[in-house]
Amino acid sequence: MSLIQIQRQYERIPTFQCKTGCTECCGNVPFTKEEWDQLTPEEQARPTQGLTCRFKGDSGCTIYDRRPMLCRLFGAVDDPKLTCWHGCRPEQPLTKMQGLTIMRHYLKLQRIYDPLTDDGFLSRLAKIYQHEIL
Ligand code: SF4
Ligand code: SF4
Repeated sequence: MSLIQIQRQYERIPTFQCKTGCTECCGNVPFTKEEWDQLTPEEQARPTQGLTCRFKGDSGCTIYDRRPMLCRLFGAVDDPKLTCWHGCRPEQPLTKMQGLTIMRHYLKLQRIYDPLTDDGFLSRLAKIYQHEIL
């Protein structure tokens, strides 16, 4: 899958306004190789911060325009697993089935690359989704 194909999937996800500066749901997210390769060498070399995402800044995500798929889906799907803890959501969230369809395209066509660990929290979430749809 090319980055353009991934970006086409991004475009299917409705955007919404988060609580200002909030990064509470930011954990160790998995990236595909294409998503990871968009980052600069300096960004890729950022040290890990335990279970906290290395890209979390004082006032939000420091790679917001290049954040990977799961960051975009969280809060945008009408699914308890992906519901924002502050109730932020798009006017018309994706249904669970629409969210799963996007994940299916995303997961099926490539290997998920987790720069931190093979078993990060969101990798497990991705695997749960994979299990549900394949
Ligand atoms: S989705 Fe919710 S918890 Fe996550 S960053 Fe946005 S406001 Fe915070
Ligand atoms: S990449 Fe950005 S949006 Fe995604 S978990 Fe990290 S800080 Fe949060």
